[in-house]
Parts: sequence; structure tokens; C-alpha cells
Amino acid sequence: MTKESLKREITITSFGGAGGAVTGSCHLLESGKNKVIVDMGQFLGRDDLAQMKRKNARGDEILNKISEGNPPILITHSHIDHFGFLPAYFRRGHKPVVYATKEAVQLMESSLYRSARAQRKFVFKNSVAFDSDDVTKTLNNVQIVEPFEEIPITKDKKIRATFCLNGHTPDSTSILLKDRSTGKNILFTGDMGRPTQLVTGGYNRFSDRFPQDPINILVTESTCFPDTSVPFDERVAMFQREINEAFDRGSPVLMPCIQHRYMENLEIINRSQKEGKIPKKITFYRDGPALADISEVYKNYSPDCFTASYGNNPDCYKPEDVKNRFRLDNLQIISDHEKSLFFSRELGKQKGKTIIFTSGGMGDDGRALNYLGNNNYIKNSRNTVIFSCYQVPGTLGADLLQKQRDPCYRSARIVKLEGGSSHATGADEIFGFHQRFNLMELERIVIVHGEEESRKLMETKLRETVYGEYASIKLPDIGERVELN
Ligand SMILES: [Zn+2]
Ligand SMILES: [Zn+2]
Repeated sequence: MTKESLKREITITSFGGAGGAVTGSCHLLESGKNKVIVDMGQFLGRDDLAQMKRKNARGDEILNKISEGNPPILITHSHIDHFGFLPAYFRRGHKPVVYATKEAVQLMESSLYRSARAQRKFVFKNSVAFDSDDVTKTLNNVQIVEPFEEIPITKDKKIRATFCLNGHTPDSTSILLKDRSTGKNILFTGDMGRPTQLVTGGYNRFSDRFPQDPINILVTESTCFPDTSVPFDERVAMFQREINEAFDRGSPVLMPCIQHRYMENLEIINRSQKEGKIPKKITFYRDGPALADISEVYKNYSPDCFTASYGNNPDCYKPEDVKNRFRLDNLQIISDHEKSLFFSRELGKQKGKTIIFTSGGMGDDGRALNYLGNNNYIKNSRNTVIFSCYQVPGTLGADLLQKQRDPCYRSARIVKLEGGSSHATGADEIFGFHQRFNLMELERIVIVHGEEESRKLMETKLRETVYGEYASIKLPDIGERVELN
């Protein structure tokens, strides 16, 4: 190999969100001497955490390799599996420039400080993953990017990045990297939104702004590839039916939520009450600092972050009332952990119809644990727990859904609402997203962020597409270096 071709070698190595792990996203792009990191996420759920340990994916050896030359870190969006490891990285003395959109940074800030406070409470000082000083250091190194504006991100300005809003969450982006030294354009989809979606409007709202430079390398997520997309009306009808059935059983309804999904749930309930599909008189409780934070962050977001549409109605909201969709009458706040414990114990004595939103969308962290841990709520077969987000294998939510299949199961009813994913779902939505970009010169596809079954099915189906037929497709393991030349 000549010196010239060595210099031009371009590779990608994934240190999470690979090898069948969905979480822990972290991808290192190397082009000659230039390096760029896309995402620095936390691993979540027992299975992915076990894989992280097995591969030592956040061990010193790997972190030293990643951080060599102090490459910049680009954050696609503010889900913890994409940015949650940042302060721990800074704690080890690295000081990279972190690029993210303003909206992502707002949510990262509140999530990270909350996590630092929680660790201080529950873990001995020496063994915390990070503290609030590390969060401050991280935030001091953040550079805000404007969506759809191309900016240089390496010192020699040879690699330029464009963050493209994609509808997965109000702050989520796909990132296009243009590398002048190799002439390659690399698109990281990050977590892709759906074509139309609550709150953000979905990728249809942004796709006419996607850059049309030819993509040579596509690094795509695959989380919901095998799933079937559920039409909006059907999904909302199921939501309403489950709530009404739970009330018929005379039980309070527990809804553990992750942040953005909480806001979507508020909107569906708001509209359902207005349309008379669920009772007008319900007492709501919000139990969880994470939910308080997202409400506050959404209050500060510009109205432009929100679509005017609801379901099939494109003009549901006027510009001045786009945020009223999140309002509920009779919403009470459970402020601290002690009150939450007390409330969860007394819950059986509630009169009237009650819905409790808790933090901890997969059941095994946050205030959800006060109800789903070993106590009265979960043991009472009249009660209903409604999960509305993807339950990562190895989480309490996934375990409860599994347990319920046992004919001897006698505890609370566990419901998982289908079709509510904020990830592009199934081949049509995912390939539809890819094709909003210019794939005429596509050479390679790297499939990440999905269970093994999803990735394999996606590979098979990609080979049947016009753009996937001639591209080489790779399903990398954690730490596996993929050559992109
Ligand atoms: Zn996400
Ligand atoms: Zn993700």
C-alpha cells in the first residue's frame, strides 16, 4: 500500500449501538489523521450492559484509543443512549469540543445535572460515574450548531458537518459528514423519526431541507425494522381502550414514561378528553423529576419545534397555541421521593379515576420503581400498568411483559401500547427516510443500533432495494473496525 493510499484510509469503529446492542451509541470515524466521534451514549438494560462489560466498551483501553488526538464529539440527539456517557468522559480528563443543537443541549443539561444529583444521593463519592463539576465541564465545551448549516469540525477544516432535523424528537438530527481528504460523504442517520409523528411532525416536515450531496457511506439505525407501523387512529383507539378498560376494573393507571413520550401521551390524553373518548374527570399525578424537566424544557422551546398537526389533521393547532396540547386539567405534582413512596402505598384508597405518570419508562429506574418494586401496587390484579415506549430487553418492563404470559400470573395487568415508537418503523418508513437523501453513489451501508434480528432482516431487505443492491453491507460488532474505502 502506498503512503498516499494509507493517508487516505477511512474507517468507522463502533463502541456501542453495535454487535446487536441497541444502546450505548458511539461511533469513531477515522480519515487519515482526522477523527470524529458521533454520539457518546450510555448502555441501558441488563443485556446491553452485559455486552458492554464483555467487550469492555467503556474500559480505559478503548477510551484511550477513542480520545487520542482529542477528536470532536457530535451528538445526534438528547436520548441518554446517545449522550449519557459525556460527563464520565470529561471526568477522565478529556476535553473535546461537543457539537449539538440548542434544543438537545437544553435537555442534556437538565438530564445530566439531575443524574449527577441522584448519584450523589445513592452512591459513595468515589464511585460515582460523574458529578456536577463534570457536567459543568461538559457543558462549557459545547458548541451549539444551527440545523441544516454546514460547519467545519476538524482543525484542518477538511471534515464538515451538517445536522439535519429528522423528527425522532424535537431536537433529533441525522448528521452528514463531508470529508474533503477522501472525497467521501458519510450520513449517520442517528435515530430516525417516522414520516409523520406527534409533536415533531416527523421527517416529512424536514426532508425538503436535507442536503442533496451524494452519500457514499450510510450508517443507519435499525431498531424498529421488523415491526409493523400501526396507523395513527388505531394506535390512539388502543390507548383510549386500555385507559377505559383500566377504569372499568376500578384501578388507578400507572404510566411509566420516558421524557418525550410523556409529552406525546399528554397530547393524546388532552385530545381524547376533548373528543369525549375518555372521561373528562380524571385526576392526574406527575411523579418524577425527569418529567418535570421535560415539561420545563418544552416550555422554553420555540413554538417552531412543534408541528401544527395532530394525526391526520394538518391544521389542528394555531401557532399561538401549539404548546396548549400538553395541558391537562387537574394535574397534581408529587414533588419528592418520600411523598412518592407514601403515595404509592396509599394508592389503593384513591376514589375516582386516576392516572399516574412516572419517570422510568422501562420500569427499572426513576419513580416507576416505587410502584413496580416489591409493593402493593404491582401485586394487585385490579391495577394496570401501561408502558408506551420500547422496552429494552433485560429491563423490568420487558421482564414484566414476559412474566404476564405465564398462565399462573396473578399480578397487575401489564400493557405495552404498540405503534407509538418515535423510530421509523418497518421497511417503508426506514427506506423512505434513506431515499430522501441522494443515494446515487452509495458504496457502503453500515447497520447499527438494532438487535441482531433487526439488523439481519434489514440487510436482506436492503439487498432488494435499488440503492442497497450494489452497496456492500456491514453489521459491525463492538470495536470492529470497518474499512470504508
Ligand atoms: Zn433516540
Ligand atoms: Zn437510540
